[in-house]
Amino acid sequence: MAENTRNLIQKYNVRLTKSLGQNFLTDNNIVKKIVDTAELTDSDTVIEIGPGVGSMTVELARQAKKVIAVEIDKRLIPALSENLDGFQNVQIINMDIMDADLKELQKEVQTGELKVVANLPYYITTPIIMKLLEEDDSISLMVFMVQKEVAQRMVARPGGKDYGALSVAVQYYSKPEIAFDVSPHCFIPQPDVDSTVIKLKRNETPPVKLLDKKLFFKTVKASFGQRRKTLVNALYNSGIFHKTKEEIKEILMSLGIDENIRGEALSIDQFAELSNAFLK
Ligand code: SAM
Repeated sequence: MAENTRNLIQKYNVRLTKSLGQNFLTDNNIVKKIVDTAELTDSDTVIEIGPGVGSMTVELARQAKKVIAVEIDKRLIPALSENLDGFQNVQIINMDIMDADLKELQKEVQTGELKVVANLPYYITTPIIMKLLEEDDSISLMVFMVQKEVAQRMVARPGGKDYGALSVAVQYYSKPEIAFDVSPHCFIPQPDVDSTVIKLKRNETPPVKLLDKKLFFKTVKASFGQRRKTLVNALYNSGIFHKTKEEIKEILMSLGIDENIRGEALSIDQFAELSNAFLK
């Protein structure tokens, strides 16, 4: 249980490691609110990334059919196992989630939906989220605690300073929704930043039709690569399209996009049209 967090850390003499993003939740209400956000049924399987000493894992195990808890730090495994003693439905895997074969984990799902719930380590938030979105389309829902600014970037709409490649990628794969904010006081040690819980519901069908998904993401990356430049210059300078500036301008014109626009003004639909047009 979450109130055990401090005791377990003391008992096992665990030194929390900043470089592994080890800020543990001590507030039981927040744990419950995060788990509620995942709308679990007793037939669902949950992957928890970074269970720590299991403050949230216990609550997940109570509500889901099965929990697969993937923790990188082997020093935490004894405390985690003790905290979960008595639960038959939890599988602990000592591994870096970035090395995990998600398709293998997926085989564990017998009934219900596959969901991911995690109080993420902030040093590696974006790579983890991108891996989950890109590699496993069987995950129906993800609930993450992330740094507040990252949550804002994920839900950002075109035109604002928060809108960027992460917004487009997350919104291509899912519908992101901010659930609630969490104060640094709810963790030990307290992080230097505010946190937000965000829910990503996977899109069953992508919101746009792409001729070449890789080229779409390259176009997005190039467009945001030089935010102060116009879209034409950013695309031209990226050197990946093998087109002259004039040709790029013509493509934009044919799509009704102003040649002086910056990348951050384009919607996902427009990025799709643009990357499709590069292939014609
Ligand atoms: N779930 C616990 C809680 O809410 O109290 C701990 C959350 S803490 C913010 C992040 C956890 O992720 C730590 O336990 C850390 O060791 C683990 N972690 C860090 N990098 C990881 C990785 N690449 N793969 C799996 N776990 C990781």
